[in-house]
Amino acid sequence: MKENLLGLTSQQMIDAFVAKGETKYRGKQVFSWIYQKHVLDFDAMSDVSKSFRAILKEEYCLDLPKIFKRQDASDGTIKLLLEMSDGAKVETVLMRYNYGNAICVSSQVGCNMSCAFCASGLLRKERNLTSAEMIGELLVMNSILAEEMENVSHIVVMGTGEPFDNYDNVMNFIRIANDQNGLSIGARHITVSTCGLVDGIRKYADEGIQINLAISLHAPNDELRKKLMPIAKAYPLDQLMDAVHYYEEHAGRRVTFEYIMLSGVNDTIECADQLAALIRGTCAYVNLIPFNPVKEKDFARSSNNATRAFWDRLMKLGVNTTIRKEFGTDIDAACGQLRVKYQNQGGQK
Ligand code: SAH
Repeated sequence: MKENLLGLTSQQMIDAFVAKGETKYRGKQVFSWIYQKHVLDFDAMSDVSKSFRAILKEEYCLDLPKIFKRQDASDGTIKLLLEMSDGAKVETVLMRYNYGNAICVSSQVGCNMSCAFCASGLLRKERNLTSAEMIGELLVMNSILAEEMENVSHIVVMGTGEPFDNYDNVMNFIRIANDQNGLSIGARHITVSTCGLVDGIRKYADEGIQINLAISLHAPNDELRKKLMPIAKAYPLDQLMDAVHYYEEHAGRRVTFEYIMLSGVNDTIECADQLAALIRGTCAYVNLIPFNPVKEKDFARSSNNATRAFWDRLMKLGVNTTIRKEFGTDIDAACGQLRVKYQNQGGQK
């Protein structure tokens, strides 16, 4: 099978072509054709020699995922169900903020983390996504935005999958997106969200790029967290908090804790107090997330009053807290819902 060139960083492209007897310049040239001139056809790369173009066509492809289904919400949110070359279906979402266009990228086909409230985990992990497929999610979204003379300016790796369970491909994807000769998306505009894989957090802390880290916390104590997130059995909160301290020291950046507000489960004032105590001594932010109801799951969203009281308590205790804005409420907004719906309909459109 031909290798998809979209999965290679500029350095990997340079190395691969040097190994074929080309100069270093060749890799840079092809990389810029793809990412700066948006050309995905080897024949159109007019200043690449004909003989090398023939080699490229022989050994590589530049395949993008196909748009299998598209939903547009009234607030401009776009949700795509993409089809990969093996038929795997993956969700990608575009959210429009006043500061730019953020894409929510999926990192795996399905997910094995089995969080109790999440639609993505309803379908087990089939495989990791390659770097080329994640770049594909971005390029397809960019091609839609090009019609409005816009492009993707921010990335959150918060779609289906656990990014640190696919660490190398996710990091490669980020390097390609961040490359100044590539898509040039600033590191501070890129966020990876993990359910708390401690080894991954430590590795990420040592990457030496200014990318952001979000951690799905969702509970302020181990007992509750284990009920909501099986990963808490492998990595209890003391280990997770040690990794957060390590990240703050080594990356020199603050983490954001994501906390879904589940009515009567984790939204009491007592939970807010425990949460503040847990993260005391870190510089972390907390982002309270309105629960997106999932038909298959028996949870309810916290009331506005409960959310407000929780926020208020955290702020009083000195925790920097925000409440997440909601997008695309008139389409299948929660991660994984469009895909689950598709699969449950027996794969019919
Ligand atoms: N596996 C990673 C990234 C994917 S999930 C992680 O766990 O962080 C991205 C975020 O969406 C997580 O914070 C996750 O807990 C949250 N999420 C999952 N299901 C949700 C739902 N039904 N409503 C709101 N947020 C949800």
